[in-house]
Amino acid sequence: TDEIQTVLLGDGGVGKSTISNRLVSNIFIEEYDPTIEDSYRICCEVNDEVYIIDMLDVAGQSEYSVMRDSYMRRCEVIIIVADAGNENTFDEIKVFIEQAQRIKDNICVPFLLILNKIDLVDNVDPLMEKLRKIGENSESAFVEYIAVSAKSGFNIRSITEKVVSIAMIA
Ligand code: GDP
Ligand code: MG
Repeated sequence: TDEIQTVLLGDGGVGKSTISNRLVSNIFIEEYDPTIEDSYRICCEVNDEVYIIDMLDVAGQSEYSVMRDSYMRRCEVIIIVADAGNENTFDEIKVFIEQAQRIKDNICVPFLLILNKIDLVDNVDPLMEKLRKIGENSESAFVEYIAVSAKSGFNIRSITEKVVSIAMIA
């Protein structure tokens, strides 16, 4: 069994904990404690192979976190979440990408950019386009994209497939 280390980054309130909980137990939590920093193990099967995805759900972005830094150093896929209902959460993505690249000494870092809460918008295309522009403007980064709703559960399972495929390419 292959184990894949990942970390979840993104502004407070974008839905990191809700996505983690959906992946682990398939439930939607309306109110989630913003201070909880937790790690999850998600078992999945892709192309008849079993993988375990280790996911660190990070709380309090601006505060220094030893756990986050050391986790980021050894993680294989960095997941950054943006909120479809709050475009301000897009601004931090570039900051997270650069921070991750610095910690990983600028070796080509694989990222998965998740657009969450797509249940809140009628048209996701312009938002995905905006995400792609951010990813394409980042040097020495391999970036994949996915649009999900942790509320409805839409595309949540595809996150694990994307993570596995990114980890295999990288
Ligand atoms: P975190 O700070 O990134 O961990 O964000 P949370 O997981 O705590 O989510 C913040 C709020 O957004 C909570 O009230 C969630 O119920 C809500 N939320 C999370 N995902 C979705 C979603 O896909 N759609 C909607 N409408 N709300 C969501
Ligand atoms: Mg949280």
